[in-house]
Amino acid sequence: MSELKPINGNLKLNGRLTIEQLNALPEVPIEGITYEQIYIEKEPICPEYIPPDESIIPSSKRSVVIDPGRICMPFGAMWASVGVHKCIPFVQGAQGCTTYPRYTFSRIFREPVSIATASFHEDAAVFGGRRNFLQGIRNLVYRYHPEVIAVVTVCSSEIIGDDIEGFLNEAWEMLEEEFGPEIRDQLKVVIIHTPSFAGSHVNGYDEAAKAFVKTLAKRRSPNNKVNIIPGMITPGDIREIKHILKLMHIDYIMLFDISETLDCPLRLPQKMPYYPKGGTRIEEIIDTANSLATFALCPDEGRGAANYLAKRYEVPGILGPLPLGVHNTDKFVKTLSEITGQPISEEIKDERGILIDAMADTFHYTMGRRVAICGDPDIAAAATRFCCELGMEPVAVFSGTQSATFAQEVWAACEEYGYKPVIFNGGDMFEWEDVVKKEKVDLILGNSKCVNISKEANVPLVRIGFPVYDRVGYQRRAYVGYRGGEFLLSLIVNTILDAKFPDDRVHQ
Ligand code: SF4
Repeated sequence: MSELKPINGNLKLNGRLTIEQLNALPEVPIEGITYEQIYIEKEPICPEYIPPDESIIPSSKRSVVIDPGRICMPFGAMWASVGVHKCIPFVQGAQGCTTYPRYTFSRIFREPVSIATASFHEDAAVFGGRRNFLQGIRNLVYRYHPEVIAVVTVCSSEIIGDDIEGFLNEAWEMLEEEFGPEIRDQLKVVIIHTPSFAGSHVNGYDEAAKAFVKTLAKRRSPNNKVNIIPGMITPGDIREIKHILKLMHIDYIMLFDISETLDCPLRLPQKMPYYPKGGTRIEEIIDTANSLATFALCPDEGRGAANYLAKRYEVPGILGPLPLGVHNTDKFVKTLSEITGQPISEEIKDERGILIDAMADTFHYTMGRRVAICGDPDIAAAATRFCCELGMEPVAVFSGTQSATFAQEVWAACEEYGYKPVIFNGGDMFEWEDVVKKEKVDLILGNSKCVNISKEANVPLVRIGFPVYDRVGYQRRAYVGYRGGEFLLSLIVNTILDAKFPDDRVHQ
């Protein structure tokens, strides 16, 4: 095709050329299509011109998602798996499905994370992933000696229809032949089906939690412990939950305990293959069937496992709320006390008192502030209630993952305080952003995905939830419990002080 020549040296392809000018063009730009065919007469700007409706189309009526508030389902399964001691997730799919989660883990936790992949290429897409599975599992056992392998499926393996259970039977025979029959005692394999088109990271964690207890839990004698399924909260949060349990002298099984796998002390020398010292032990997961109760702190990230243990082993399940803020932490501590018979310790009452004191000290900064909240359903619902407790008005509350209880929980908290926020249950951030920009809000509580919105709307952001990748040390802090509430309150108030009274030393 020859080069396009400008007409009169001044060609503008902006839809304002006349037909004559277009016909005079020396060459058609795309074979088979003339300029005449692609020419669109724009509506003239005249007094009769009616501009299009500027309100955005809600995500429920759109066939595309703009700025999703969630990531893919296998990521949640990998998160739960790396909280198990000497467990390596094995991703039955392409390398990208592994690289991206590893990168996300490193960004958030600044720790190396071992995740294996079946490394699908074109042949696997055509013939299935059996060969990749067998080779991958064998290599993993041979080189890394894991105690648990969590097989995590992805979009491609689920669409191809890989028979993972069948592959695993074959793998066991192969492993027994090479490593001896004792390999069955040394290694556990948990299969987690997480096609990303079926849900988000939240659902992936939930699926993983259920798969682990379904595969491993066994009835034995009662252990007088409580099971805790933390959900996707920070290592600092998990340490805070352990702190509360310790103060109440309660024995526990902390499932998917990332507190010492994704926030691990650097102790040298390290030997290969390297495994962090922390994580839930297999024995503990087996023993979950014998506990007094299961607390799923984030119901959307533990409901499946808690319900399974309740149904199969009659271990009562307590589904949330996430103990963030005064009301929710009170509820958690009281339920713990009721179930275990342990009294609420004086230290815990003091920690509560310190939070209440901090709220009384700062209510004149928080009272009446309008806030927009964004995050995974359980954390967004809990943060909404805490904002209400601080006298702040939730204006727009968003969860990127659709949840059965989220809207109800947010509504119940806001109704108690007389607020009526716009609630987005599983929409995209584009529509939430629209409300944030239209309504005058004073503060955003959300994850790192809110940074651009916060800058464009010129509204300060307090980072909370997942993912937070642009703050150092975020993962080490606790936001749950009374002490976590006090820390979050300080973040909120200091952000308000910076934004509202930047030069006012009296207020500060
Ligand atoms: S959306 Fe599907 S294909 Fe993409 S990274 Fe996630 S699991 Fe892999």
